[in-house]
Amino acid sequence: MREHDRLFIGGQWTAPAGTGTIDVISPHTEEVIGRVPEGTEADMDAAVAAARQAFDQGPWPRMTPAERAEILGRLSAIYAERQQAMADLVTEEMGSPILFSIFGQAAMPQMVLQYYVDLAASFTWEEERAGMLGPVTVTREPVGVVAAIYPWNVPQFTLMLKLAPALIAGCTVVAKPSPETPLDAYLLAEWIKEAGVPDGVINIVPAGREVGAYLVSHPGVDKVAFTGSTEAGRKIGAACGELLRPVTLELGGKSAAIILEDADLAATIEGFKMAALMNNGEACAAQTRILAPRSRYDEVADALVTMVSSLNVGDPADYGTEIGPLVAKRQQERVEGYIRVGQDEGAKVIAGGLNRPHDRGWYVAPTVFGDVTNDMRIAQEEIFGPVLSLIAYEDEDDAVRIANDSRYGLGGSVWSADVDHGVEVARRIRTGSCGVNLYVLDPNTPFGGYKDSGLGRELGPEGLSPYLEYKAIPRPA
Ligand code: NAD
Repeated sequence: MREHDRLFIGGQWTAPAGTGTIDVISPHTEEVIGRVPEGTEADMDAAVAAARQAFDQGPWPRMTPAERAEILGRLSAIYAERQQAMADLVTEEMGSPILFSIFGQAAMPQMVLQYYVDLAASFTWEEERAGMLGPVTVTREPVGVVAAIYPWNVPQFTLMLKLAPALIAGCTVVAKPSPETPLDAYLLAEWIKEAGVPDGVINIVPAGREVGAYLVSHPGVDKVAFTGSTEAGRKIGAACGELLRPVTLELGGKSAAIILEDADLAATIEGFKMAALMNNGEACAAQTRILAPRSRYDEVADALVTMVSSLNVGDPADYGTEIGPLVAKRQQERVEGYIRVGQDEGAKVIAGGLNRPHDRGWYVAPTVFGDVTNDMRIAQEEIFGPVLSLIAYEDEDDAVRIANDSRYGLGGSVWSADVDHGVEVARRIRTGSCGVNLYVLDPNTPFGGYKDSGLGRELGPEGLSPYLEYKAIPRPA
């Protein structure tokens, strides 16, 4: 049992203003495994004040990028050394299979941090341009106090997508973890202290959505960075629009995997273990619409059913597990609700279904729907669980049309023996990323969504821009 009775504010373990607590429940055992204070508006006031003080008076924004990189490099080294502890903890909190967790919940966040540490040396922080009347200095300044609000599915990764670029830019941060997964942020806070990040540069207050909304509109905040549902993103975007407050939104998805006529089916189906079912399907970029040429539909259906039915579903801490429990009972019920919706819409369950694989824990059987048409709710709405929809297409133009017939535009993939041709098809998909014969996010490559999947980009140099203000200083020749 991990009990925390303090909040990380101003570099100190600070007593919370209220008495409320958040219980963290293991999705595998359904037992309480941790407890943290539930942050209140007064705690957000304290956290924003600390971040404000650190930004307005503290050393952090006044250091050179190289000086900040040195301190963050220490944090990155600590993270690299202890990432197994982080992977174990996230798996315990939210049920991510440990093999995915080692990579996605720990190694990836560390790599993102290291990427921005390294970028500090090569990034153009300031330059001279020839203006009409004389030289112009163009410089980049940190945008200020950042509110970072993120979800439970990949908590360290979605936090680090904001934290690393914000910090290297010279911003200070108030982070709000989801109530489902606050424990990993406490482990990170210990490492932050150990690395010697100045007080108030990072503040962490776990809280629910109302207190999150309070943070978004807080007068002491200069920029909001959000990952979560499209529904919440719309509200946050509206609040920031009213305030003219810069905001980045990484939201939901309903990505398509297009299997072309010439695809190597065995390799493709193997690739779907990651591209379609990573993290129990609790992944915004999961490719849950499988588009198969009608000529190969039966063959694809058989291979998909064989793969999905053979997945090991069980204790996420077990190294043989491929699908763990969903984060919460609410999520289990939501995913099962969608399985019922699919059946009611006339799609056919060809693997999995409503029989729960285990009595205890929030498990859902990995499920494949056949005979899906793209207008069905199971093809249009984000399910956020291990449920795939198999959709037949007539020709390549039809496949592209179906893939693009979505309110979302986050990820996707094309599977083909001809990689160059796969790239041509990927160019036609209206999403922020589209892999060929794989799907991966790279630290140096922008990630984000078109349409209802969000605004702006994270990762790469593009992911640093939202934390910078550009300033021009012209002067006479
Ligand atoms: P959610 O939107 O309910 O919550 C996300 C976070 O926002 C939580 O910390 C929550 O407390 C907070 N929040 C909710 N409403 C808020 C509001 N009005 N103001 C301020 N804060 C608010 O989402 P969730 O169910 O926790 O997470 C799943 C969603 O996240 C999925 O839709 C998924 O696609 C999305 N997601 C997107 C990405 C991406 O990069 N595009 C990555 C991971 C998850």
